[in-house]
Formats: sequence, C-alpha cells, structure tokens
Amino acid sequence: MRFADLHIHSTASDGTWTPREVVRFARDRGFSCIALADHDTVGGVAEALQAGDELGIEVIPAVELSTLYREAEVHILGYCIDYRSAELQAQLQVFADARRNRGRRMVEKLRDLGFDISWEEVKSIAGEGSVGRPHVARALLAKGYIGSIKEAFTPEFIGKGGRAYVERYKMRPEEAIKVIKDAGGVAVVAHPGIYKDMSGLERDDIDYLVQYGLQGMEVWHTEHSEDVSAYYEGMAREMGLLLTGGSDCHGHNKEETLLGKIRLPYRYVEELKKKALGAEVR
Ligand code: AMP
Ligand code: ZN
Ligand code: FE
Ligand code: FE
Repeated sequence: MRFADLHIHSTASDGTWTPREVVRFARDRGFSCIALADHDTVGGVAEALQAGDELGIEVIPAVELSTLYREAEVHILGYCIDYRSAELQAQLQVFADARRNRGRRMVEKLRDLGFDISWEEVKSIAGEGSVGRPHVARALLAKGYIGSIKEAFTPEFIGKGGRAYVERYKMRPEEAIKVIKDAGGVAVVAHPGIYKDMSGLERDDIDYLVQYGLQGMEVWHTEHSEDVSAYYEGMAREMGLLLTGGSDCHGHNKEETLLGKIRLPYRYVEELKKKALGAEVR
C-alpha cells in the first residue's frame, strides 16, 4: 500500500523542518507522497520538489490560506497549484507584507509591556519564511519570559485577544478559492472539525463554500477524533467532494511529532490529481 500525508508545514512558514527535511523524514516514515502546505506561502515548494526528485518521493505543490468566515478563521488548502504563477505570487506577497507588519506591531506591544525582545530577533527566528506568532513566541522563550511556547498563546501575551495580540489580515474564503483555482489548483477546506470559534463547520457552511468552487474536504486530520472524521467523511461522500487527509505536522516544536499519524491511501491522491488535470483542461 502507498500512503500520503497531504498537510505538512516547513520553515517556509511556521514549521521547524526545512522543506528538504520534511521530504526526508516523510520518506523515512514510509510515505510515497506528501504535500507541502505552508501558511500563505509557496516559498518552500521548489526545494521540496527538488528533494522529492532526489529522494524518490512525490511532492504535491500546495498552500494553506487563512481566511475569515463568519468571524472565524477558516483554512483553505490549495493542491496541485502552479506555484510559479505570477498572479499567485502577487496575492501571497500581500499576505507576507501584512504578516510582517502585524509581527512588528506585536513586538512593539510586547516592548511597551516591558518585554525586551526586538523585531530583528523575531525576523531572524523566522528566517526566509513568513512571520507568525510562533516566531514571536520563540523570541519570548529565548529571553526566558516564558517557560514554553504554549505560554505565549495566553491572554498575558499573544493568545487571541491577549495583551500583545494583533489581528491578522485575512481574505474571504471565496477569494482564497479563486486564488487557488486561478493558479490551476484544487481547493479543499482544511480540518473542518477544529475551528475554535465555532463547533466545527456544518453542512450549510460547506454548501456555501462549494457554491464558490470548493472541491474537497480534509476529512482526516490529527485533531479530528474518529467520530469527527466519520462525520465529515459521510458529509464529503454525500456531497461528492474529494476526500483528503494530513497530519498538519509542524516538525518537532509540538510535544510529539505528528508526521506518520495520518496515512492517506494513495487512491485519494489519484482522485485529487484527476480533478487538477480537469481544471487545467477546463
Ligand atoms: P498566526 O497564524 O501567526 O496567528 O499563528 C498561528 C499559529 O500559532 C498556528 O498555526 C499554530 O502553529 C500556533 N499556535 C496557535 N495556538 C497555539 C498554542 N496554544 N500553542 C502552540 N502553538 C500555537
Ligand atoms: Zn502553523
Ligand atoms: Fe490550518
Ligand atoms: Fe496547517
């Protein structure tokens, strides 16, 4: 049996492994296919494809776009995208700039609260990748202001609504779906069961997204219980959507490594690729 993990992050966003390491660790764990799906960037895709060629594992170019839907954050995955598309790059650049400005503002707020961290430190932690709260958290940890990354995500620091929290620019899910499809990709709603501000997406939410071109659903995810996965699997099959799954592994920064916990049978990747080809021919 061949297996895939269609949701992995790298240092191009807030993961701790480089794209090359992601590919290598996935191969070591027996995967024959992965998708690199970094937050709002395709900056790691070229390196992952190159590594995939060298190590003999299939890499699917992907992205995970953060959107705002009914006051909640909903993530839309884009698969088999033309990651070199100029239009896509321009859209993602808007995101990257917004993330940098927002990161800088959180640092300013923290400094006003008396925490001696600098934007330069946060930037160097983020490296080439896009800037997120995890990078600010690592700067706080490095200075000893917190004892664990988790602690940063509390009202004291940069938890949602917290003292130094700054909201991030987000596009609407309709726009995200369009950006993905314009780049020849397949749009899939990520982990529908775990949106914190709501109790998981419901059938009418998915109907809404499908109306704007959504093609698939991430049924299997490390934060979906078996019941939740079964619920969404039923919904996705009933609606004729593609079914996908991934670990959402961010490397070693969580207590455990998530890579290997979701093994998606390869036939679902074949279905996905067929849809992408269909979109190309149109
Ligand atoms: P951002 O997109 O910059 O707002 O940061 C969100 C990212 O922070 C998520 O993708 C997670 O990787 C990370 N994150 C969110 N909540 C927590 C938490 N409680 N503990 C550790 N990491 C978290
Ligand atoms: Zn993340
Ligand atoms: Fe996500
Ligand atoms: Fe993710």
